[in-house]
Amino acid sequence: MNFIQQYNDLQGTPFDLPVGKAVCVGRNYLDHINELNNAVPDEALLFIKSRNAFVPMQDQIVIPATGECHNELEIALLVGDILTRADKDKAQESIVGVGLALDLTLRDKQTELKQKGLPWERAKAFDGSCPLSAFARMNVIGDISNLSFSLSVNNQLRQSGTTAQMMRPWQALISEISHHFTLFPGDIVLTGTPKGVGKLLAGDKLTARLDTLIECEAEVFTTSGKANG
Ligand code: ZN
Repeated sequence: MNFIQQYNDLQGTPFDLPVGKAVCVGRNYLDHINELNNAVPDEALLFIKSRNAFVPMQDQIVIPATGECHNELEIALLVGDILTRADKDKAQESIVGVGLALDLTLRDKQTELKQKGLPWERAKAFDGSCPLSAFARMNVIGDISNLSFSLSVNNQLRQSGTTAQMMRPWQALISEISHHFTLFPGDIVLTGTPKGVGKLLAGDKLTARLDTLIECEAEVFTTSGKANG
């Protein structure tokens, strides 16, 4: 697997940060909660992916050969500070880059684990489960509060959303995360997915966009090199 060794900006210049963990939130967009018939959570539903998940969102994305692997396109925020029990202002100041992530999810495995009350890592944190784009530096992106993003599969729009639709705004989300999991420089936060999750198949061609700043193109392969069933 082609694991990420550094985060790059839009010019291809690496950030001076180590590659850390991703703290992810489930159920942060109402339209996605409704499409899976989930309940709106009282507290943020958090889970973690570690660096075995991080691969580039370009050229080839390799998904497990078995199981139903779903796309979840999300805004990814790159953290540049240490955040422990941070307030929203500190959380806001700590972000140094904004990019896109695919929170790849083995949906059938996740459903099985949910029903048994078991942890989700096998469904969410497998090798290559978090393809990442480059990150736009904050001086390039300016305001994060109403950024649009979208995913097309084989030229058909599958997901689109804006950061304004988040049920927990990103500053509040990062603050809440930091009360449970300290964020270090080089960690990223995945902010949830809008509706349109669905099964990926070998040969699918993905185009992910963040506003007019980022466009990633990749083709889906499976670990067996064959079509998945
Ligand atoms: Zn997700």
